[in-house]
Amino acid sequence: MADWRHIFLVTDIEGVAGVESWEQTRSGPRHEAAKALATDEVNSVVGALLGPPDNPDPPLLRISVWDGHGCGGLLFDRLDRRVTFYRHDDTRNFTGLLRESLRAGVPVDALGFVGQHAMEGSGGTLSHTYSSRRIRSYKLNGRPIGEFGLRALFAWALAKIPTVFFSGDDVACREAQSLVPGILLVQVKESLNVTSARHLEPKNACAQLATTARKILELNPSDSSLRPSFIPEPPFEFRKHFKLKFGLVPRPQRTLTGDNLTALLEKE
Ligand SMILES: [Zn+2]
Repeated sequence: MADWRHIFLVTDIEGVAGVESWEQTRSGPRHEAAKALATDEVNSVVGALLGPPDNPDPPLLRISVWDGHGCGGLLFDRLDRRVTFYRHDDTRNFTGLLRESLRAGVPVDALGFVGQHAMEGSGGTLSHTYSSRRIRSYKLNGRPIGEFGLRALFAWALAKIPTVFFSGDDVACREAQSLVPGILLVQVKESLNVTSARHLEPKNACAQLATTARKILELNPSDSSLRPSFIPEPPFEFRKHFKLKFGLVPRPQRTLTGDNLTALLEKE
């Protein structure tokens, strides 16, 4: 058995089976229903990793779950009680939480993504990069990069934390695999366009998530295929292209440069 101790799960709602419209990602009854689907998917992964609720000897010390959806994407009351949960509006954010795990002596040693979407412009279902209204694309040293890539690279640059698990639609899965070749993938839907998909039935999606998540424990933490295949060299250039907003003076792009990759990526 590999010695994983602390797995950090980034969760989102756009890559969950059954979710394909923007309405499901914003406030209202359809959003609440989508949150239930997302929570079930996360619980499937957690249950696969920790075993049944009364398991006296879980194979991991800690699973952290950070709700990465802008306005919240999980139902806390329904979430597996054994996880350490961080709300969507936790001001420490993803980067601060990873840093804190190092300072607190419980370093994250693997990153996983559940319900993640593909980057803006990819054609994936509900694809976007942070703000669907504002951002056209992000490039890091010339390479297009989305939310998955920025986080996987941040984790690697910060403390050589590998990224081991990913679920979402087919486009998002390809995006993840192109950066992390050995990542475990669960495709829960096939994108037809930005607002429609062919979905696995939610219970089936959860079963597949559990089957694949169990394999995390068999991975070798030092397997080189779990680290980003693209690790840029300094000087770093983080270029952001924005969508032009009607009625506003356009500010189409902004370029950040520097020699410290984690500091640069934190300026998201
Ligand atoms: Zn989201």
